[in-house]
Amino acid sequence: MKTLVFLEHHEGELLKPSLGVLSKAASLGGEVAGVMAGSDVEGLAAQAGAYGAGTVYVADDPRLDAPLPQPRVDVLAQVVQAGGFDNVFLAQSILGADIAAGLAARLDAGVNWQLTDVRADGDGITGTQPVLADTVVCEVGWTSTPRIALFRAGALDASETGGQATVEPVQPELQDFSLAAEMLEQAHEESSGPSIEDADIIVAGGRGLGGPEGFAPLEELAKALGGAVAATRAVVDAGWYPYSAQVGQTGKTVAPKLYIGCGISGAIQHKVGMQSSNVIVAINKDPNAPIFEFADLAVVGDVNEIVPKLTELVRARKGA
Ligand SMILES: Cc1cc2nc3c(=O)[nH]c(=O)nc-3n(C[C@H](O)[C@H](O)[C@H](O)COP(=O)(O)OP(=O)(O)OC[C@H]3O[C@@H](n4cnc5c(N)ncnc54)[C@H](O)[C@@H]3O)c2cc1C
Repeated sequence: MKTLVFLEHHEGELLKPSLGVLSKAASLGGEVAGVMAGSDVEGLAAQAGAYGAGTVYVADDPRLDAPLPQPRVDVLAQVVQAGGFDNVFLAQSILGADIAAGLAARLDAGVNWQLTDVRADGDGITGTQPVLADTVVCEVGWTSTPRIALFRAGALDASETGGQATVEPVQPELQDFSLAAEMLEQAHEESSGPSIEDADIIVAGGRGLGGPEGFAPLEELAKALGGAVAATRAVVDAGWYPYSAQVGQTGKTVAPKLYIGCGISGAIQHKVGMQSSNVIVAINKDPNAPIFEFADLAVVGDVNEIVPKLTELVRARKGA
């Protein structure tokens, strides 16, 4: 079985969700390769070897500088067809999902998305796909090859195995229509700490914070802990915090070592995005809040009193 993994990168780094997908692909056995597209990216290829890629195909071309999907569909289609890959795995991001859809149309292939796991099954593979707000878990398959699979960001752990990859340059044959779109501008959100996908510690806020100003003490706590701030959809919809911080069914899936939920009820749509966290601490003034049913540590009280005190204690402990 031959599996190709799309390696997404940003600002000179391979993204963790892609490395998680690569580690999973390597655990299935068979031949595992990565594919990267960009400009001046060859240096990143070696990193992928440590996560299980035997070969990394690198399309290094100035026309691939902007993170646009269509030219990447050309590169992946070229590599899949030349290499006879059975599976194509991608981490689910805006770019990854666009590429998967374009590649499926180009190769007349099937795509399964929102997968949280995959296993080898005879000559093929079977995916795990939670559906109906994650209340039901389905096993999904493909009726033809290549089998395209999109995995939820944060669902798979990246584990280093220390291997080395052979780098294979690819001369991209880009279609005229793939170059029709042009990226005019890329805006980056200003942020000082780690992103919620990368953070080991997440301090998340919900409607119990009382308003957008309630996030300032959370940011202080996150800073003291070296973590990131996340939010529920209720507060994002209310405009209290940016959408990029939303955790849950229609937001991001996170799996930090420590998740501190502040003024969050624990609705199923939020739970599905953070339930894999190692330790869940919940602060809520309602002792019957649903989040207490799956929290490891339940703190019944007012977030406005507890969070600043916690920050003080963390700072004192760290001597800051
Ligand atoms: C299709 C669909 C998709 C959705 N996707 C998502 C998603 O991706 N992510 C998501 O988060 N939600 C999602 N939701 C919304 C979800 O159902 C909940 O409405 C939302 O998670 C609730 O947010 P909350 O916990 O901030 O607010 P609430 O449910 O209003 O809870 C606020 C909590 O704060 C507590 N509280 C109040 N004051 C204080 C205080 N001073 N101190 C301590 N505690 C206090 C209350 O006791 C309460 O438990 C989705 C819903 C639908 C229908």
